[in-house]
Amino acid sequence: MKSSSRLLILWLLFNASPVSAQQAPPLTIPDERYKADILLVVAHPDDETAISSYLARAIFDQHKRVAVVYGTRGDGGGNSVGNEQASSLGAVREIEARRALASLGVMNVWFIGAPDTPGQDVLRSLETWHHGNALEQVVRLVRLTRPEVIITWLPCYVAGENHDDHQAAGVIATEAFGMSGDPTIFPSQVAAPRQRLRINNYGEGLQAWQAKKLYYFSDADHTDFLEGKGPQYKPSDVSTSRKVPYYRLSADEWSFHETQRGVGDVARSAIEKGEFKALNEPERFVMGKLLVGSTMTGDIFEAVTPGPIAYAFKRPYRPLQRDGISLQLGGPWAFYREFWRAQSIEHLAELVTPEVGVAGGQPLNVPVLIANDTDQAKVISLMTELPDGWTEQVRFAKFPVAAHETYPVQLVLTAPAGHANEWHKITWKIEADGRPVGSVELRVHLRSGGLPQ
Ligand SMILES: [Zn+2]
Repeated sequence: MKSSSRLLILWLLFNASPVSAQQAPPLTIPDERYKADILLVVAHPDDETAISSYLARAIFDQHKRVAVVYGTRGDGGGNSVGNEQASSLGAVREIEARRALASLGVMNVWFIGAPDTPGQDVLRSLETWHHGNALEQVVRLVRLTRPEVIITWLPCYVAGENHDDHQAAGVIATEAFGMSGDPTIFPSQVAAPRQRLRINNYGEGLQAWQAKKLYYFSDADHTDFLEGKGPQYKPSDVSTSRKVPYYRLSADEWSFHETQRGVGDVARSAIEKGEFKALNEPERFVMGKLLVGSTMTGDIFEAVTPGPIAYAFKRPYRPLQRDGISLQLGGPWAFYREFWRAQSIEHLAELVTPEVGVAGGQPLNVPVLIANDTDQAKVISLMTELPDGWTEQVRFAKFPVAAHETYPVQLVLTAPAGHANEWHKITWKIEADGRPVGSVELRVHLRSGGLPQ
């Protein structure tokens, strides 16, 4: 053997196998400072006020750790105390929310930067929020905070404030609940870091995480449909540690939202007068998913024990089989029909029949779908039955629908002025070959004010 070859072997022995005899240090564990018992996923700074009495109970008396994700900085809407608007209002409201939550001891608060999109159609917010980007951020924060329970807005079209951003937060949180435990989804988030102590970051170093329970709350203007669908908490209960009713702690939390009319001003007035009626409405939750043995109306932490649970396998989406000719509500109503099935939360379909709230004199947009699942092309007539005072924009009366085709139709109605707090029913019917073949109904709550639909 040539001396150069011997040198090469020696070099390889000392340099190509740099295995130390020492034991590696223990694995670095997830950062406990960010571990949450509850992850609240909402849309706007002040949305947490809808359940702030419950949060006070959970934090002060049950010693639960709470983290919050806001979809937007609340850059839409009016400003009750100053001139700041748009992005400047968002900058103000982010600090209001951080101060409000700090009053409950909540410091882990993230804003994912979606625009405030006032309206009622969830698909519009999912569009402006850049759905995939928002979802990736929420999945990351679920994996970072490893919550036992996720609480969010009800993903359902209801008559009430019914903000499309609220619904978008509920949709994205529901998706994140089902995805965060799957390491093939946003896999760079769960890749082990290549060089943890160096600046060349690669691999986010999180771990897949399956939360155990999912609960919703609603901003509907009628609450009958929420009864018995999940746990309820009374703000008038007295905090065992603070010795005051939870509504009093809640009022302190609300009072930081000074730019928000109906929140900061209401709380300050309640504190001043010692009258807390506006903050004493029961906080009603709707059970979303329970992956541990628990009852529908049991406490939010019933049967929750520390430690991870296995990933809950999500069944794949399958389209519904239809036949004949049919008429259905389209747009957000069509989305939710499929979404609830795809997410295994079909029980939400039974909460309300299709409904919407609109102010008198305002337009109401109603997308409908005329489906022809026969083997023959059809010309299908669409008729609207309107209550007194309603008008409909001029539209086509008949629609040519090819075999196995669905024809989307956008209807625009105008609600009668001078009504408030009344329920009206609108019916649409279709006919083919001179025979009735389908119908749908929508109930409409005529209200004063409210968001444009
Ligand atoms: Zn809101």
